[in-house]
Amino acid sequence: MDNKMGTPEGFDLSPEILDEIQSNIEEIIKSFPISETNKMDVIKKINFMYTQTKYMSVTDALTGLYNRRHFENTLEREFLRAKRYSNDLSLAVLDVDFFKKINDTYGHLCGDYVLKEIAYMALQTFRKTDIVFRYGGEEIVILLTETPLEKAIIPLERLRKAIEDYPFNYDGNGFKVTVSIGVEGLSSENAEAEDLLQSADKALYAAKECGRNRVLTSSDL
Ligand code: GH3
Ligand code: MG
Ligand code: MG
Repeated sequence: MDNKMGTPEGFDLSPEILDEIQSNIEEIIKSFPISETNKMDVIKKINFMYTQTKYMSVTDALTGLYNRRHFENTLEREFLRAKRYSNDLSLAVLDVDFFKKINDTYGHLCGDYVLKEIAYMALQTFRKTDIVFRYGGEEIVILLTETPLEKAIIPLERLRKAIEDYPFNYDGNGFKVTVSIGVEGLSSENAEAEDLLQSADKALYAAKECGRNRVLTSSDL
């Protein structure tokens, strides 16, 4: 996993700035010398485009999960919040095992199907207060708010098992998929948000090394 927390390329305005731009645009339109009906039409169209843009700027198009850009903003915010209020916070990184083989054997579209199914299963597994992101290719990150490490393991293990048991089927081909997961909880050792991500990533790497299809924590290392 590439851990760099740099600014992603392309369109990148925070939701707060977008909100401010939108309310300014509305004010400008209201001052136009056109009929009230026209003004309302224009404002409606702009609101629609704005909502769509805002949704697209935080969403991964393939899986519908939050995207990496949104992860980077959210991690920082949740990390600071948890530290400030002495709340628990756990971060998990999931990586599909031998995903390249799935693409090579059944094709790229089948790989996409697997990602969509796993994203859906992840959304079904976690609480509404947990946040699921597509971090990269076949990597998903889950932020479990107000959840200590030992409690985070329970839904993660449930998800791992659900994926292992799921009868994947694409174009008449049935096959099995497994995932490896690394997880870390907030502690005095995690001085920065990025330390949490790095520790979870190390645990993921260890899970791969010792045979895949398992959940490991940093204390297992
Ligand atoms: P490991 O068990 O060690 O994780 O092996 P792996 O094959 O999963 O890991 P590797 O990093 O070698 O392969 C990841 C593959 O994911 C390679 C890339 O082509 C594929 N991939 C990345 N993004 C997408 C996508 O959006 N759709 C599909 N179908 N494949 C993707
Ligand atoms: Mg990977
Ligand atoms: Mg992989």
